[in-house]
Amino acid sequence: MTMETMPHNSMPAPSAAKPAPVALVPCSSYDEAEVNRALTAALDLLGGWEPLFPEGSIYLKPNLAGPFPPERAVTTHPAVVKAIARLLKTAGREITLGDSPAGPARPGYLKFLYRRTGMEDAARELGLNLDMNLDPVEVKIPHARSLRVVTLNRSLASAPALLNLPKFKTHLFARLTGAVKNLYGAVSGVMKVAYHTRLKDPADFMGLLLDLVDYLQPRLQVVDAVVGMEGDGPTWGRARQVGFLVAGTNPLAVDWVMGQMMGFGAGAVPLFQLAPPPPVEVRGVPLDQARLPGYKLPSPNTLEDGLEGLSWLPRRLKEYLSRELLPRPSVSPELCVGCSRCEQSCPQHAIRLRDQKAVVDLNRCIRCWCCNEVCPEGAVELSRSRLGRLLASSRR
Ligand code: SF4
Ligand code: SF4
Repeated sequence: MTMETMPHNSMPAPSAAKPAPVALVPCSSYDEAEVNRALTAALDLLGGWEPLFPEGSIYLKPNLAGPFPPERAVTTHPAVVKAIARLLKTAGREITLGDSPAGPARPGYLKFLYRRTGMEDAARELGLNLDMNLDPVEVKIPHARSLRVVTLNRSLASAPALLNLPKFKTHLFARLTGAVKNLYGAVSGVMKVAYHTRLKDPADFMGLLLDLVDYLQPRLQVVDAVVGMEGDGPTWGRARQVGFLVAGTNPLAVDWVMGQMMGFGAGAVPLFQLAPPPPVEVRGVPLDQARLPGYKLPSPNTLEDGLEGLSWLPRRLKEYLSRELLPRPSVSPELCVGCSRCEQSCPQHAIRLRDQKAVVDLNRCIRCWCCNEVCPEGAVELSRSRLGRLLASSRR
């Protein structure tokens, strides 16, 4: 494995003093004409895409969190991917489309992922290069907040210009997944699990995400917020009509706008505890008109989240209550097909297959919910103990 030392992208970091523009444009459906109209309007509000990508090939990075069809709202819809790809292709640009899924690198699984998410058809229809490269590369992160050396997918690490295409979703661990969290997809397959193990403290994990922003420097983010996910995302929450495209050059600014639309309070998103969002200038629809009443946020996931105001309790009691409060995974034997993706993705090795069915050892489990995220069958359910339900309801 080779080592790369400098960020590959020479775009300047956004100025902290100048407000970061974020375009908010209504987009009511995935109808081709509607997405094209909304995308053109969003890009116009940002001053066009051309100054951001003056030359060369472009890498499109959708959120392909799992092999789910577009209507599940887990992955970026192919209509959004195709709209931006069509625009860039018309200008004669060479486009690569890809993502690096969690777990062991297997070309067969990657192909399956592209097929299920509609990316294979999109690439064929528009003549895009579908990235099948699963090679890892170690990169040194200058001034790292978290890990000084990170193993990334080689194609993504060396992409000359990255265009980030996240999905508008809640996330049990990160609270929301948008432009910043989508960059975790650049981490090479099995290392996604390894970093979850090493970076148990959310601040360390968020530090890694911010390091990825600095290293990969995505020049433009276009969030598929036409249909988003609410509740216990990023995989098994509920699809909900949101009706927007959200676009911007600064991933933190874009995520902050997403958080405001969803209704997260101050300090509720750990990313912004580590890196306060920059000043933001919302263009298009005013932010107040884009807030989503009753948007279901994810279940409490930390001691602070769930046991706010109880900091005076003895540490061991708090730890016990926290474990009870957090939803615990269990596997439905009826739904489990024994594919072992959860076993391979568990950072604690808390899952074993017995008679082709996954079984969770709750004593080892740290409630990271990776198993729930990666299970293609929805077989990993999250539920609370009776005490946990009582605690959760008392904190609402
Ligand atoms: S629980 Fe899901 S991910 Fe785990 S083995 Fe069963 S089907 Fe596969
Ligand atoms: S069993 Fe526990 S530790 Fe393992 S992936 Fe699932 S939630 Fe995370």
